[in-house]
Amino acid sequence: MESLAFATIQQLKTGYATGAFTPNDVLQDCLNRFKTYDKKLGTALEIFEQRSIVECSNTTGSLAGIPGIIKDNICQKERITSCASKILANYRAPYDATAIGRLKKEGALLVGRANCDEFAMGSSTETSAFQKTFNPWDLSKVPGGSSGGSIAAVAAGLVPWSLGTETGGSVRQPAALCGIVGLKPTYGLISRYGVVAYASSLDQIGIASRTVKDTAAVLEVIAGHDAADATSLGVSAQSYTAALTGKIPEGLTVGIITNAVYAPGVDKAMISAVEDSIKVLRELGATIKEISIPSMDYGAAVYFIISRAEAASNLARFDGVRYGVRADDVTTLADLYQKSRAEGFGSEVKARIIIGNYVLSAGHSKEFYLNALKVQQLMRFEFQQAFKEVDVVLTPTAPSTAFSFDAFADDKLQMDLQDYFTCAANLVGIPAISIPCGFSNNLPLGLQLMGPHLSEDRLLQVAHAYEQRTEWHKHTPQAFL
Ligand code: GLN
Repeated sequence: MESLAFATIQQLKTGYATGAFTPNDVLQDCLNRFKTYDKKLGTALEIFEQRSIVECSNTTGSLAGIPGIIKDNICQKERITSCASKILANYRAPYDATAIGRLKKEGALLVGRANCDEFAMGSSTETSAFQKTFNPWDLSKVPGGSSGGSIAAVAAGLVPWSLGTETGGSVRQPAALCGIVGLKPTYGLISRYGVVAYASSLDQIGIASRTVKDTAAVLEVIAGHDAADATSLGVSAQSYTAALTGKIPEGLTVGIITNAVYAPGVDKAMISAVEDSIKVLRELGATIKEISIPSMDYGAAVYFIISRAEAASNLARFDGVRYGVRADDVTTLADLYQKSRAEGFGSEVKARIIIGNYVLSAGHSKEFYLNALKVQQLMRFEFQQAFKEVDVVLTPTAPSTAFSFDAFADDKLQMDLQDYFTCAANLVGIPAISIPCGFSNNLPLGLQLMGPHLSEDRLLQVAHAYEQRTEWHKHTPQAFL
């Protein structure tokens, strides 16, 4: 059988229906590709044994026989869920996350655990305690982060889809840097039950694949109300693939957030790719309107404060008593906490916990945390106002193409600015998608579309129409064919 590298979910489903190949062939091929390429790419922390993959999933359903990989901060029953941290290196999940349960019920084959930044904290996957992940387009570059393993595995054609998580852009930014589609849904659309918390008010599962339709196909399996998650919205599952006709909705107005597109530091190639994509949307029949959302300029700062504050309190549960690593040689309970956390957490996580406790401390919470909440409120207001005038808004996903390892080692602030375009959607709770929109020096560029709460169907429709008009999603990194 020919290699099934880069086959989409839709192509695999057609192949199964016509009998061209079987789920067993596809899984075998997928596992072989991980064996061949993942030494170079470092996308997976673990690939499961073939029999155990098949055993824990149904053989029928809308994703029957379709392999995917799961970021290692989403619980898969009886598998390790390490969050790429030493503190949870041997932690086994006692249950499936709701999304995982739904995927298994629909027959998806969950082949392994994807590498990521430790506890999803980072923009390059460099903070993983275990390994680096490399960008399939250029191994000297990062894949982006924090869901770098999930995204690079899809970009290299090892699996057609994956799950990551999104707190400030961790699916969209690596999707942009690796040239694939990344979706962050409306807050509360996908259950967070079984997702290890980083900043709970922002966290959502995100989906990566190589086409908009494949992303929609996974979304319709995992979206919808879950009683086990108190922040889950009361919406039922719906079809997201049905509306993907290649046309944009009648009378669509696209808002170009000019202060973001032309913000200082955005690469020239990125700006011209955005300008070209505006032309494509016009050709598709969209009305284009220039708008400004001034509070976006404060988004990265607000995100910085809120995410650290919530991280500090969420990560307090890793204390050497209940989960994960427990330090030996301790004399008191305080000693146990201190030593277990000192040994178990990496430096990025420690820095975030310290900053989080600082911004929440009695002396500083007004100045930092409460002010950040106010600006977050302003951002919500400005986006609401914008969506009275336009249906979707457009920005780049990231300021530039993928960067080199250690590029920001001496300037952490630059790394935090990676979140500038993406964190707004998390802070406002709205859906956003990144789609391939060009290349610069053989590295992919990503375009971001955002819409009002629960506008996933429209967003996917616009993204799909754009994708069908362009060729960017057809490019694949040659080294992995
Ligand atoms: N880059 C952001 C951060 O480091 C986003 C992370 C995320 O979305 N999980 O916090």
